[in-house]
Amino acid sequence: MSDVRNVIIIGSGPAGYTAALYTARASLKPLVFEGSVTAGGALMNTTDVENFPGFREGIMGPDLMDNMRAQAERFGAELIPDDITAVDLSEDIKTVTDSAGTVHRAKAVIVATGSQHRKLGLPREDELSGRGVSWCATCDGFFFKDKDIVVVGGGDTAMEEATFLSRFARTVTVVHRRDALRASKAMQDRAFADPKISFVWNSEVAEIHGESKLTGLTLRDVKTGETSELAVEGLFIAIGHDPRTELFKGQLDLDDEGYLKVESPTTRTNLTGVFAAGDVVDHTYRQAITAAGTGCSAALDAERFLAALG
Ligand code: FAD
Repeated sequence: MSDVRNVIIIGSGPAGYTAALYTARASLKPLVFEGSVTAGGALMNTTDVENFPGFREGIMGPDLMDNMRAQAERFGAELIPDDITAVDLSEDIKTVTDSAGTVHRAKAVIVATGSQHRKLGLPREDELSGRGVSWCATCDGFFFKDKDIVVVGGGDTAMEEATFLSRFARTVTVVHRRDALRASKAMQDRAFADPKISFVWNSEVAEIHGESKLTGLTLRDVKTGETSELAVEGLFIAIGHDPRTELFKGQLDLDDEGYLKVESPTTRTNLTGVFAAGDVVDHTYRQAITAAGTGCSAALDAERFLAALG
């Protein structure tokens, strides 16, 4: 059985690495499980990040994450590129189990496992991520000035993204599988009133085209099966996110959409000594800087919790 650590952090995006940096600088010697496939988090799959403060020319997503990792490591964070496969968070000493079955123990746990944006599941989708294919209008809208773009989806997020993107784009075409939107009436009204936004109903994206960047899409009518070509430089996929909370079901309280619940504005979960930060909690902002911000809060909450234990 391993020694009891002060704090274990599960997750390695901006939230996890920021929590690692703060707890490391507080001499808590955090043990961080980064995940085996996507260590570094969502920004490992993108190119330019222009809205993380401190980088006036912008920075590539993987470089930003490498810097965060190195900064946490410099102060003594122990980083392991492995998955946690089981947790028991209910007792004073919490346990987390890695992929080899080794059990690690700690007085406090910070959960920062992020959320997975839903994909269309098409060839070229991953290769063209950050090269025309995006899941975040706030992050990437600025790159699409005077371009023709498509937004896929019919919910509030899709309408919000379409309306936001119309500030930059030449045209925004919303492609939706049904003949009516799921979005709230107010969001629909805004989108319908926007002269730059048009709708292609009962349709889905069948193919994504482009070598080094997106050049166009094949759309398919889901009723007739007919296909059509659309030349676009941007594709925003807004069909939802799945917070990575499977591991915590039955232990930590989740909201209706499966996100971890915290006692806002703190990062405390329903279990003493367990804190949560970043996109696994947040379905509103979903930005690197907000994830880093709550990662900092979780570290400070954990620090105070540990100090109170004496
Ligand atoms: P994540 O970054 O999702 O990291 C969580 C990580 O935890 C996972 O990747 C995985 O490695 C690890 N993990 C999960 N489960 C386990 C487990 N069981 N065991 C161990 N480890 C685990 N935001 C911006 O501010 N600016 C941008 O320009 C921008 N561009 C984006 C581009 C793309 C393509 C995407 C998808 C998102 C972009 N975002 C951007 C959003 C931003 O990336 C997220 O808001 C941010 O990464 C969330 O950070 P996080 O730490 O909560 O989670």
